[in-house]
Amino acid sequence: MTYVVGLTGGIGSGKSTVADLFAELGVPIIDADIVARQVVEKGSPLLAKIVEHFGSQVLLANFELNRTALRQIVFDDPKQKAWLEALLHPAIREEMIRQLDSVQQPYALWVVPLLIENGLIDFCDRVVVVDVESHIQLERASQRDHNCKQVIRNIIASQVSRQTRLEYADDVIDNNFPLEEGFTLLKQRVQQLHQCYLQLALQGEY
Ligand code: ATP
Repeated sequence: MTYVVGLTGGIGSGKSTVADLFAELGVPIIDADIVARQVVEKGSPLLAKIVEHFGSQVLLANFELNRTALRQIVFDDPKQKAWLEALLHPAIREEMIRQLDSVQQPYALWVVPLLIENGLIDFCDRVVVVDVESHIQLERASQRDHNCKQVIRNIIASQVSRQTRLEYADDVIDNNFPLEEGFTLLKQRVQQLHQCYLQLALQGEY
């Protein structure tokens, strides 16, 4: 199995921005959000199970999953939410591990927003946290999602605290600086960590 670097951070902290920089260096990226979509793609056995359970109201005209409809159904119904999570979570975890297993390069970057919350730390050889101050996180996430700040505050409250996340970090990427000023610095930090992870992986330090 390849050396696994878990990358995490709160909503809007800059995980995708940082992952793109690792990808530019040729690092394979396994992204939990992408895998969560792959396991229920059109024609998949899991999507068939969801349709069997909730009916065709959760399908779009093109037979893809209607995420908005599904979200609405489970939003107010903890029992249905639990049913869905019991179906999806093991499948997502299994698929992520399968993808990590098939990596041929020295290390892979595993991007998981809820790495700590979902108890996935033990699958990582190293943990890197993208860190921003809470007010910056709130500003960036609400701007990106065109969401009111209270919605973002609620999501932040549902995730582990910044402090707790930092306690799990082997490495921290400071993403407080606006990209206009801080992009070069961010890129340099990624390059530095890339060299470090290559060395750790090649030394077999896991
Ligand atoms: P999520 O977990 O919510 O998917 P994320 O952690 O992947 O978010 P990004 O999508 O990378 O975060 O960044 C959130 C928003 O902030 C994006 O609009 C991104 O362009 C912007 N952003 C990221 N880093 C910076 C930065 N250093 N300066 C300014 N804007 C930034």
